[in-house]
Order: sequence, then structure tokens, then C-alpha cells
Amino acid sequence: MTNRFLSLIDPEGGPASCWPFLGSKMGPGYGQMPPNPVGRLAHRWTYNHFIGPIPKGMVVMHLCDNRLCCNPHHLKAGTQQDNLKDMNDKNRHGNHPRKCTKEKLKRILELKNQNVNVEEIAKQVGYHKRTVFRLIAEAGQHKAKALK
Ligand SMILES: [Zn+2]
Repeated sequence: MTNRFLSLIDPEGGPASCWPFLGSKMGPGYGQMPPNPVGRLAHRWTYNHFIGPIPKGMVVMHLCDNRLCCNPHHLKAGTQQDNLKDMNDKNRHGNHPRKCTKEKLKRILELKNQNVNVEEIAKQVGYHKRTVFRLIAEAGQHKAKALK
């Protein structure tokens, strides 16, 4: 069983490189393992296999930002807050452009126009409330600029 999982990981680049997951993907671009007791997210399975059990309530983060990477050297267990902080830090340094699909932005503005409150919008599009606030503010500025 373990070999079957390991065959889905490509460690050819060596310990310093990313080890891409070769199997199918799930959700937002993560590797998907066949059903197993640890869970189907490939990087979580990898962490558990190479490093040890994931502490309860912790998430496994990618230090390399490559969601398909299964190199245990690139994985770190942290809290959800650590994970968000990590993402924010990277955004701030500009090497990890924030992804906001046009459709989502459109949806946010649509809901906003229907006077749906930000909290509810955030829930619907899966963003943090503050992100929704900022996107609405930014969209407003663009509009204002366009009208000038
Ligand atoms: Zn990696």
C-alpha cells in the first residue's frame, strides 16, 4: 500500500527540489492520494509518512508554495494562523501574487450591489472579510478613476 503511494511522488530532483505529486488532483490544486487513514491530501500523507503524525489541529504548509510538492523538507506543520500569516508575508513581499479570479470579484460586486453584507459575501466566495473589504474598495477606486 505504501509503495503505491510513494510511486505517486517524484523525488528525482533530490532533497533540495520539489517532489511533484504525479497522481490526480483535488480541490484547489492539491495532490490526491487514494483513500487511506491519514487523509487524501498528498502533502499531509507525505508529512505523516516521512516526518510523523501531524499534531492535532495543525495544518501542513508548503514552504515552497508548490501545492503539489511532496518533498518532506518543504513541508512544515503549523496552525491555520501560521499558514495565513505565512501567505500574508509572502503577499507582502510581492513574490506570490494574490489570486482573485475575475468571476469572484464580479460575484463580490454583484452581492455588494444587492446590499449583501460583507460577512455574508466573504462566506460565499470563501475569502476573508478583510479581503472582501479591500477588493470592494479597490474596485471603487478603479471606477472612480475610470470616470475621471
Ligand atoms: Zn517543494
